[in-house]
Amino acid sequence: HVLREKSRVLGRGRGIASGFSSSSASACQRLAGKVAVITGGASGIGKATAFEFVRNGAKVIIADVQDDLGRAVAAELGGPDAACYTHCDVSDESQVAAAVDLAVDRHGRLDVMFNNAGIGGDAAAPGPLASLDLGAFDRVMAVNARGALAGVKHAARVMVPRRRGSIVCTASTAGVLGTAGIAAYGVSKAAVVAVVRAAAAELGRSGVRVNAVSPHAVPTPLVMGTVARWFPGRSDEEMRRIVENMGEMEGTVLEAEDVARAALYLASDEAKYVNGHNLLVDGGYTVSKTPNMPAAP
Ligand code: NAD
Repeated sequence: HVLREKSRVLGRGRGIASGFSSSSASACQRLAGKVAVITGGASGIGKATAFEFVRNGAKVIIADVQDDLGRAVAAELGGPDAACYTHCDVSDESQVAAAVDLAVDRHGRLDVMFNNAGIGGDAAAPGPLASLDLGAFDRVMAVNARGALAGVKHAARVMVPRRRGSIVCTASTAGVLGTAGIAAYGVSKAAVVAVVRAAAAELGRSGVRVNAVSPHAVPTPLVMGTVARWFPGRSDEEMRRIVENMGEMEGTVLEAEDVARAALYLASDEAKYVNGHNLLVDGGYTVSKTPNMPAAP
């Protein structure tokens, strides 16, 4: 599965690098000429979004801590004309500021900021609340919540004077529902939604929109790491099935590309009057609750 996923994404990357200047492609490019920074763009949802953005005409700066992966993704995307990589630990405000400044230095502006970097797994310390490691909680908050806030702050710094721009933050269904066993992660994602609302309320008047995208479970490295802690000894294939079965819809599974397309919408001018919204990409998971009652005879 991992290999199939890799070849699918790689194949897509080659398509972008080789054939995306055609007029048919440019006719439907929804981010034509826009400049985007994507934190956590070296893997998973951020990587899928980088491909979606470039496919739609954007120039992308991938800001991540996985340097080799990030550089490889930028190369797959078509190299310096389409994408570049910069090391950026979002828990360090100065590095977030530098990623934003890189966009402005290279391309003259920043149109889209996708605050997507996040951690889970060991760092999110899955386990009972009674044994929650508050040091782990601080680390999760520093990346997931404070990192997103730093991205909003520095994007606003360069977007507000231009009176335009779109900021999208990756929250989660775990930030909407109480999710047992991952309290630190859930709190950090609820904070992301709060950051989005606070920023949208302030920045809307400046023409800068701020929204969240909240996926349900996608078997990215982040989620697979958490599942591996919960179900030690399972194969990748078994863990992938566990994650896919967390979904609500039958006959289809949530993929990183589905989340990427939601981020694309919020980033684009098609969402020009959408501000302060939390776009759940969860197949209805957060609106569905089967009542606790005895099984029918
Ligand atoms: P992933 O592990 O594939 O990608 C996360 C990326 O963030 C990695 O490339 C990682 O290197 C980067 N990152 C981690 N810490 C960083 C830091 N301090 N500074 C910069 N980059 C950092 O996982 P993913 O699932 O694609 O995660 C992307 C976002 O989606 C996260 O915010 C995550 O919480 C959120 N999310 C994921 C799911 C899911 O089921 N996969 C569901 C809801 C929300």
